[in-house]
Amino acid sequence: MKYEITITKTTEPKAKPTDESKLGFGKIFTDHMFIMDYNTEEGWHDARIVPFGPMPIHPASTVLHYGAEIFEGMKAYRTQNGDIALFRPTENIRRLNNSAERLCLPQLDEEGCLDILKTVVELEKDWVPHEDGTSLYIRPYMFGNDPHLGVHAVHNATFVVICSPVGAYYAEGIKPVKIAIESEDVRAVRGGTGYAKCGGNYAASLRAGKKAEEKGYTQVLWLDGVDRKYIEEVGSMNVMFKIAGKIITPALTGSVLPGITRKSCVELLRAWGYEVEERLFSIDELMEAAENGTLEEAWGTGTAAVVSPIGHLAYKDKTYTVSNDEIGALTQKLYDELTGIQWGKVEDTHGWCEVVCRG
Ligand SMILES: *Cc1c(COP(=O)(O)O)cnc(C)c1O
Repeated sequence: MKYEITITKTTEPKAKPTDESKLGFGKIFTDHMFIMDYNTEEGWHDARIVPFGPMPIHPASTVLHYGAEIFEGMKAYRTQNGDIALFRPTENIRRLNNSAERLCLPQLDEEGCLDILKTVVELEKDWVPHEDGTSLYIRPYMFGNDPHLGVHAVHNATFVVICSPVGAYYAEGIKPVKIAIESEDVRAVRGGTGYAKCGGNYAASLRAGKKAEEKGYTQVLWLDGVDRKYIEEVGSMNVMFKIAGKIITPALTGSVLPGITRKSCVELLRAWGYEVEERLFSIDELMEAAENGTLEEAWGTGTAAVVSPIGHLAYKDKTYTVSNDEIGALTQKLYDELTGIQWGKVEDTHGWCEVVCRG
């Protein structure tokens, strides 16, 4: 089912960024945005693309008081032959609906949502940057928007899609990151919202991130909220380890976000013949592997960086160097394969790319 979208084009188009090496991440926005409203009587209605700009919001709106907000992060790529393509967009839509279910926000029609994303990207196609490694970052999000202070499942919601041309994540080549293992704050607990992509999880993670940054680390490695023993994620990425030839990644227990990059890496690794264990993986086991030299590689996975090699790990008063503080061979191979598929340089044998428009 497709939503009926009305399009109001801007009369004041902005100048496109001329220096694509200075795009950064999420600082520049395109000319238009998508908005659609929901209420329990009418369902989703008034789907519209309008000029990008501020949205009025009721001062009592649910999202401002109780944090009812979920989001997605995906990219449109300009492929080698000029086409514009999305990477596994239906996975994002399904995850958005799973997040919505957890926060009692309304469901979106899968086909309708894909049509919204394609319509927005096609309209903004000239904003998809051209240089190697750049892309158009797409941020769909939904929030509870009831105009009163009672705490209950929402009756009004708003779904928005904004787009931002983003620079190459690794403008100066892939550099391994320094990770601090967080033993006090936790990001999520089983039964909570860890598996949902919701703003609240990020709010809860900021303090540990700030503390790590002050000590010179890039990201935090999160342990589980009950025993502070099992590894969950790294920053806002999933995490994988290569130990004695095998790949280990934390199982999706409910407090770990089911990353689409994680899923794609697991599928590629298995296709390449690697044994991949998705299981509870304790910090003690990781420290032991780091000490006895069987920890070969460690990396985070996520849409923004694709893969991010880990070069240093710090836990309490100990620090370890991983893979000589260089990108490991398998981490590099995953990066090359995934970006190769996304940029149309490697044959997409899995059917992961969804062409939006031809170049
Ligand atoms: C979005 C996100 C990820 C990565 O998911 P991808 O689908 O691979 O981009 C991992 N962890 C958290 C907490 C996230 O929000």
